[in-house]
Amino acid sequence: MKVPFVDLEPQHQVVGEEIRRRLDTIFETTHFIGGPEVEEFEERFASYCGCRHAVGVDNGTNALEMALRALGIGPGDTVATAANTFVATVEAIHATGADPVLVDPDPVTSNLTVESLEPLDPGTLTALVPVHLYGRPAEMDALSDWSERHGVHLVEDAAQAHGARTGGRMAGAWGELGCFSFYPSKNLGAYGDAGAVVTDDPEAAERIRMFGDHGSSSKYDHTVPGTNSRLDAVQAAVLNAKLSHLDDWNDQRRAAAERYREALKGIDPVSVMPEDRREQGRTVYHLFTVSVPASSRGSLRAFLEDRGVGTGIHYPTPVHLTSAFRHLGDGTGSFPVAERLARRTLSLPMYPGLTDDQVDHVASQIVRFFSENGDPS
Ligand SMILES: *Cc1c(COP(=O)(O)O)cnc(C)c1O
Repeated sequence: MKVPFVDLEPQHQVVGEEIRRRLDTIFETTHFIGGPEVEEFEERFASYCGCRHAVGVDNGTNALEMALRALGIGPGDTVATAANTFVATVEAIHATGADPVLVDPDPVTSNLTVESLEPLDPGTLTALVPVHLYGRPAEMDALSDWSERHGVHLVEDAAQAHGARTGGRMAGAWGELGCFSFYPSKNLGAYGDAGAVVTDDPEAAERIRMFGDHGSSSKYDHTVPGTNSRLDAVQAAVLNAKLSHLDDWNDQRRAAAERYREALKGIDPVSVMPEDRREQGRTVYHLFTVSVPASSRGSLRAFLEDRGVGTGIHYPTPVHLTSAFRHLGDGTGSFPVAERLARRTLSLPMYPGLTDDQVDHVASQIVRFFSENGDPS
């Protein structure tokens, strides 16, 4: 049996026809930049997130950078985020000219929590960027109280959490601004690069729209030095077709996660990603991760590969141990939780359309691996 790490074909089966129809209209009207598809998507995505505004942009990294810029963040400012995030979060902070500060995440949830922020001096911080890693929402009610109490701006990296919910509100709708990526394999994925920023603040939305369109509010009226960071109509058409299915696809991810969890329960030494079981919480499993002893991860991956199962590691190197951002830490040992995660985490196949038989195959091969190899820890 083949179980790829990710397979986008089942989604295309559902939306292919509608996408072709929408693309035909774009080709006929030649409305390639902006236009009705982009407007429709911005309206529907804002409403999906429970926010007043959404601004479509060219990718998630630029969504983060422009969100921070919209708050006036730049050189001399300090912005904190998780040491175990995808590097893009830190790149975006760096790109504004602000100084990124890394925080070791909570060992249970792998996300930032109020407790994990204790080593920080909030007086030195301009903004906080929590990341809903793997689609598990950070506990935003508490983080939002913390930010308000300390006068620190709050911007969410919701690039892995389309449709996730915590404390009865959508991921992305807690911060002053929420940032999304629509990279093809994300829970809501375009057929190329795309992103969005959501917010209730009409002025912040307008600043992002202007900055991403050459700093102009109307054609050739360049008010601020901006850039080109727009969402194009072809990607918006794909996103419009897919948005109607996002909840169903997230439910399929959640069902697959439940099945993995059941099948791997009590299998020593595997521990599975904990779910947010707090009331009104919804984890959307951009990734389903397990933690295994560092010494057996490589051989487990090879064992699974031999049996047709693809896996991934998110992420093998914490930000402070990358060459680009070494200066954000003090070498190995700076952020022990992030480092331990990087050594032990393994991402199993997870996508809408993954069948029960495929989940059972993956889980039974993991069980078999550890019964044949014992617990090396
Ligand atoms: C994907 C991702 C981004 C960046 O999005 P791009 O669209 O690839 O630029 C940022 N943060 C996190 C956590 C991501 O997973």
